[in-house]
Amino acid sequence: MKILDGKKIKQEILDELKEEVSKLKNKPHLVVIQVGNNEASNVYIKQKAKMCEYIGYDYTHLKFPEDITEECLLSKIDELNKDKSVTGILVQMPVPDHIDTSKVQNAVSEYKDVDGLSDINAGKLFHNKDALFSCTPYGVMELLRRYNIKLEGMNAVVVGRSNLVGKPMGTMLTNAGATVTICHSKTKDLKKHTLKADLLVVTVGKPKLVTKDMVRKGAIVIDVGISRLAEGLCGDVDFENVKEKAKYITPVPGGVGPMTVAMLAKNVLKAYYLQKGE
Ligand code: NAP
Repeated sequence: MKILDGKKIKQEILDELKEEVSKLKNKPHLVVIQVGNNEASNVYIKQKAKMCEYIGYDYTHLKFPEDITEECLLSKIDELNKDKSVTGILVQMPVPDHIDTSKVQNAVSEYKDVDGLSDINAGKLFHNKDALFSCTPYGVMELLRRYNIKLEGMNAVVVGRSNLVGKPMGTMLTNAGATVTICHSKTKDLKKHTLKADLLVVTVGKPKLVTKDMVRKGAIVIDVGISRLAEGLCGDVDFENVKEKAKYITPVPGGVGPMTVAMLAKNVLKAYYLQKGE
């Protein structure tokens, strides 16, 4: 068994970006919008600020009160879309219930959408065109690429069909030549599917959902799930037991999580070049 070390690869990526950014005259600028004061969001936003500081991106955190109107938020996004000093705009999710998440995601210019969640960027991915891609599945692809894992012809099984991870993951793997099965809560006999996986990606949010008996010997297992339990962070895969069977496996923490931050960093620079027409 070999660990796919997301923490190490993240550091490599950040160092590459830092080097590239040091040569730029104008620094890329990431704006993070937060609505309310969600505890988990505060943690994620701090990670983004730290990433920007490390690479040398300009960074602005705009924090709005919980009761901001949707109209006001959309008009702020519009202002940032037009602002030439802003490279990337990220609206930290979740937003309060009175705000339409999809409207907000689609209000961000496709060229500044560093989260890759707008319908336009998701559509480009669907059509196998280059775009700003959703950071977590993009991070999984980059992790596999950096460990020289060839996907063509593989049987890949993705458990979870969220717009954020599961669906774009399935599309990226299909585009890379894998044969993809996507499972979800309505799937009958999950184990029957997971046992066929050469590559198993789990993005559900249920601690230790995937047990040893559900994994084929020699499979590559990618655990996207993060649950906060009393004993600490826990993934969707029963890591201690599954690791004996897997050829490669990601730990939680230290696997996919760091890769998500790294790919956000990559998207900011990609957005910078896109806006320059390069
Ligand atoms: P989500 O939107 O909550 O979707 C969960 C998916 O799991 C749904 O498609 C659901 O099916 C499916 N599901 C639920 N129970 C299932 C079961 N028993 N068997 C099979 N499928 C089942 O999730 P998400 O946004 O993809 O996030 C999933 C997890 O990843 C969470 O723990 C989240 O915190 C974590 N996450 C981590 C990162 C990172 O950077 N590491 C990034 C994003 C998310 P239905 O569609 O039928 O309801």
